[in-house]
Amino acid sequence: MKLLALISLAITAYAQTINYAKIEILTEQYTPNLYMLAGAPGDADPNHPDGAGGRVGLLSGPDGILMVDSQYEQVTAKVLSAIRKISLQPIRYLANTHLHTDHTGGNGNIVKQGALLIAREELRNDMARAVNMDPARLPQITYGMGDPIKFRMNGEVVDLIPIRAAHTGGDTIVRFENADVIMIGDFYRNYGYPYIDTNNGGSLKGALEALDYLVKISGPNTKLIPGHGTIIKREDIVPYRNMILDVQSKVQDLIQQGKTQEEVLAAKPTAAYDAKIPGALGVAPGVGTSADRFVRMLYTELKK
Ligand SMILES: [Zn+2]
Repeated sequence: MKLLALISLAITAYAQTINYAKIEILTEQYTPNLYMLAGAPGDADPNHPDGAGGRVGLLSGPDGILMVDSQYEQVTAKVLSAIRKISLQPIRYLANTHLHTDHTGGNGNIVKQGALLIAREELRNDMARAVNMDPARLPQITYGMGDPIKFRMNGEVVDLIPIRAAHTGGDTIVRFENADVIMIGDFYRNYGYPYIDTNNGGSLKGALEALDYLVKISGPNTKLIPGHGTIIKREDIVPYRNMILDVQSKVQDLIQQGKTQEEVLAAKPTAAYDAKIPGALGVAPGVGTSADRFVRMLYTELKK
């Protein structure tokens, strides 16, 4: 209970540093009816200088809108105004890639527009136990690990594919089959080092498996769209995975030498990559840099 209280305090303190009024929503179009909305880069959201909040996906057309993720609660009006520039159709479905506030904060507001909210059962459970959770933010329809949930609408086949414990315990990737686009959530990131939310069921093993799975289901031209950062292709996954394995083995060696967590951090096992990864040494609230957060996570996971 004490720990929960501390976590909620930390989340609140961090949330206060975001200047929601300053967040600007930009629209990217991929096909005639598939769009992404992303926060503009800048200092409005200190944890995401590459683009405020999490990316939103929109499939529009005569069958209504399918939406993926809902940004921060405080920017819903801006998100809706961007959506209404694309389509005046009702928002019928809202899916979530994972539970974090930058992807689900606006859930309740979008449900109020008439959308059905669908996500993993694990996401719902983890979300429901957060302090002061607004029940309107919780999924109405849930699913577990198993076959993808398929939507056939607007000439597209959309698959909600459950991913075993990766960035969180309730991750989903969203594939648009005809557009050859996959929204991959946050188990991959190219601004700063990988972030695995082990407090909400995430695991490094699952993240590595998810990366392998992405390579398997993607073609050479498939657009892979992370929750943050730049769009990638299948060929970008392998070096990313190798970087994780390399840093992991360095941390493992240091642990075997009997080093403490602070000594492992001081040894800078990410040094070979820091200059190549944008945001590598950017601030991760409460834990130092993005590199520190990654190394601490590896240390904790490997110590288990
Ligand atoms: Zn995110």
